[in-house]
Amino acid sequence: MLGLMQHRPLALPHVFHRAEQYFGHKTIVSVEAAGETSMTVAEWAERVRRLATVLDTLDVGADSRVGTFCWNTRRHLELYLAAPCTGRVLHTLNIRLFPEQLVYIVNHAEDEVVFVDRSLLPVLWPLVDKLETVRHFVVIDDGSDAEVPEDPRVHDYEALLAAATPFAGTFVIEDESSAAAMCYTSGTTGNPKGVVYSHRSAVLHSLISLMADGVGLVERDVVLPVVPMFHANAWGLPYGCLLAGSNVVLPGPNMTPQAIAALLEKHRVSVTGGVPTIWMGMLPLLPDHDLSALRAILCGGSAVPKALSEGYREAIGVPLLHAWGMTETSPIATVAVTRSQHDGLSEAERADVRARQGPAVPLVDLRLVDPSTGETQPWDDTATGEIQAAGPWIASEYYRGEGEGVQFTEDGWLRTGDVATIDRYGYVRLVDRTKDLIKSGGEWIGSVELENEIMSHPKVAEAAVIAIPHPKWVERPMACVVVKPGETLTAEEVIAHLEPRVAKWWIPDAVEFIDEVPKTSVGKFSKKTLREKFGGYQTGVPSSAGPA
Ligand code: AMP
Repeated sequence: MLGLMQHRPLALPHVFHRAEQYFGHKTIVSVEAAGETSMTVAEWAERVRRLATVLDTLDVGADSRVGTFCWNTRRHLELYLAAPCTGRVLHTLNIRLFPEQLVYIVNHAEDEVVFVDRSLLPVLWPLVDKLETVRHFVVIDDGSDAEVPEDPRVHDYEALLAAATPFAGTFVIEDESSAAAMCYTSGTTGNPKGVVYSHRSAVLHSLISLMADGVGLVERDVVLPVVPMFHANAWGLPYGCLLAGSNVVLPGPNMTPQAIAALLEKHRVSVTGGVPTIWMGMLPLLPDHDLSALRAILCGGSAVPKALSEGYREAIGVPLLHAWGMTETSPIATVAVTRSQHDGLSEAERADVRARQGPAVPLVDLRLVDPSTGETQPWDDTATGEIQAAGPWIASEYYRGEGEGVQFTEDGWLRTGDVATIDRYGYVRLVDRTKDLIKSGGEWIGSVELENEIMSHPKVAEAAVIAIPHPKWVERPMACVVVKPGETLTAEEVIAHLEPRVAKWWIPDAVEFIDEVPKTSVGKFSKKTLREKFGGYQTGVPSSAGPA
């Protein structure tokens, strides 16, 4: 017997129309190069409707990719709804990628149009002739004085909007499985991989951000996403805010701790979210600001150091709300809320629980698998294994089937590349990662790419790059270099060799010379041994954490 409930697609038009109908009086504050603006959701919604027409006028195909190269701003939020509600696919481009990666991603996704903040034109425009599928560049004038090229492909966002008739009807997406947005993530090796979110996954993930035993967004909240809107849809906060009816504050290009602290205070922000580096920078500023409205500081992307979270609790009474996830998991998969079983714990023990990545949110399933035997591990907080994840907002494959058989198991679970223990209450504690990447200030550095560049030095026999802990960036690269017999080499020479080859922020903080790179039984570099030797990856909390 079938259930007799209506089958209505779970799709982003509902989020848009709900915000427009119920929350037109709420506000969206946006900071841009030219200063701060404030508009109502009703005004924003009218602009989304105009933008929908603009996409038609530009003849952007039915499910074409709409690239954005933007900061966290109100106009980026307009694109967040206009593209998917009209059946196009929002493709947020990471403004921090290297030129080659950016070119690869735009071409791979076949973006037809790219919306770019004027202040970011100097980064994008030099690549223009390599972007094979882009027919239009729409410049969003954010008050920067960057030169706007005279080119028939270049349009002005505000001029297009002013000329457009707002779409008057109801947006309809019939198939909830159709793509709404996409975002590329760094593969351990090889090219970035496209993660394609569906309307259904985006809606369900937004609902989870309204769950009280988690971030718990409500209408009364004022939400400031520091996490970039090109990082897994700013962790779903923009869609969550529109669904809940929260006021939104978008910080634009100035992400200095001073600027963020000032915005949090001025707008009485109650919920914010960003990587640990942001909150580390802001910690010393806390005594100078009235942040009494803050109730949740979502933090993830890298392990949240216990001392940092405790620093916030001591200064303003609000510890960091630790969450774990990936671009492939939309991204929220776990949130480290404390529960009734933790009630009897001391403050220090509760801090240990909060420093874990936390239990899976509803609808997300996790399992711990020994990567060498494939056996499922017990949740005893001792056995370690790779976390595998399944759920309605977890990727089932990458765009164009890449990563098949590597990143996804035969029975359809995502291999996260994160190694953890799980306690008997389901609280995850990350202890390592199998993927050969370094996460510095929320952005990935490819160890393998760095190693290859170092090994291209004629005097280098072998090189392994590992993550070392850093108080601000969480992790920084360290190069362990083996010099060819009879040769001599200095750290300065290694760095000088790298400088023209990789981005400045990829340059290792330290270069250690070693006799040989330790190997595993199958002859691979044993990064684990090197990490143990040099202090390695941030593992969060000791296994004694929690009541288990
Ligand atoms: P991304 O796809 O760029 O969001 O990166 C996802 C990866 O970041 C995860 O697979 C982890 O390796 C790391 N990560 C995210 N959140 C956390 C966290 N709370 N603790 C430790 N590592 C994290």
